[in-house]
Amino acid sequence: MKGYYLWTVGCQMNKAESLRLAQGLEALGYHQVPQPEQADFIVLNSCTVRQKAEDRVVARLSSLRFLKRGREATLILMGCMVDSNLQELQQRFPYVDSFVRPGDIQTVLRLAGLTGSEDRVDLISPSLADISAYVPIAQGCDKFCAYCIVPYRRGRERSREVAEVVEEVKCLVARGTKEVILLGQNVDSYGHDLPDKPDLAYLLEELEPIPGLERIRFLTSHPKDMNQRLIQAVTRLPKVCEHINLPLQSGDNAILGAMGRGYTREEYVHLVEHIRAAIPQVALSTDVIVGFPGEGEERFHNTIELLEETRFDTVHVAAYSPRPGTRAARLPDDVPPLVKRERRERVEQLQERTASLINAQYLGRQLSVLVEGKKGGKWWGRTPSYKQVFFSAPGELLGKIVAVEIEKSGPWSLQGSLVGY
Ligand code: SAM
Ligand code: SF4
Repeated sequence: MKGYYLWTVGCQMNKAESLRLAQGLEALGYHQVPQPEQADFIVLNSCTVRQKAEDRVVARLSSLRFLKRGREATLILMGCMVDSNLQELQQRFPYVDSFVRPGDIQTVLRLAGLTGSEDRVDLISPSLADISAYVPIAQGCDKFCAYCIVPYRRGRERSREVAEVVEEVKCLVARGTKEVILLGQNVDSYGHDLPDKPDLAYLLEELEPIPGLERIRFLTSHPKDMNQRLIQAVTRLPKVCEHINLPLQSGDNAILGAMGRGYTREEYVHLVEHIRAAIPQVALSTDVIVGFPGEGEERFHNTIELLEETRFDTVHVAAYSPRPGTRAARLPDDVPPLVKRERRERVEQLQERTASLINAQYLGRQLSVLVEGKKGGKWWGRTPSYKQVFFSAPGELLGKIVAVEIEKSGPWSLQGSLVGY
């Protein structure tokens, strides 16, 4: 039996695609091995959203060059590092056997031995711990934010047909999945490219009645495309979790304009107020970039102020990293690395305080928890609002939805006692 080694960096989409690829390779008779030295087939699934991610991929590739020298093994680079830049990649990494564009799992499978052009391995996202599964519903992005390389590497938006997604979710549920996380770079614009123009709200309505499916999540939303129908779907459909990822990126209008995000600070705040009025229990997470060109201290302060006022449950913060080929790469990268780092830390410290305050509000309350596993002898799972909850209890609880009374809270998780099934 041949061994495969699969290494992944990047976003949930990359992780979801790697899981699907692993399933395809196993269907072809491969088995996973822990070290590349033991593998006949090696795949690196790459990310280029920030320079740091790209550097990690290059370092990994370099280490594999020596490994390839002494033995027969196929080495594939897939993911966002692969573009129309094939010649450049071939010159830079001559020891790589093939370069495959992001998401093109079938090509990798053909390289692994799948024969015949119309011969396809059916790919169903394997569930994570058989309980929660990523389901990509759209590829690519049409937004072209000034700093972002995704539209160049993953192409224009392409939605999967509603029936195909529903079928996949039914198969997953039949295999024990309780929760699906619908993925897209911009899920709110799902369906606009399909013949009947279904939207995400419609897709959620079609998924809701699937027996055995307990929870539905979706990410990532775009503030410009988040609409009333979607907000109503979250309020109306019991399985759709009250958890929305709504990237802000900056709280300063000039920076938002330069980023090409398509909304102002005021419009964003208004949208958040509207969501919170419609879905009072909603947990909001966001993404922020610090150190974008032209972000002086005052403009950065506008972001800090908005974060203080809005109080997000989670903030993912990244230091701006110029990406060759994007519009922002033509602007001077004028915020020094140390200042970027200091701003990132200020956002992280603020978020630690905010998350502590938000989570303390759960003390004494009973929360519904979908049990996903055990860590350090304790069961852990997530609430509909994506809070991680730890508790001790005997018996087999994996995959069950239980009630936990919260006794301790911290910025990153909650702890409590089991009070019911
Ligand atoms: N589509 C989502 C949105 O509208 O924000 C997010 C997708 S993007 C691939 C994931 C996150 O990476 C972004 O929210 C942004 O914060 C970060 N990101 C993208 N390009 C970046 C860059 N050039 N420098 C730093 N962070 C970046
Ligand atoms: Fe990138 Fe903007 Fe598309 Fe998000 S919406 S993937 S940040 S271009």
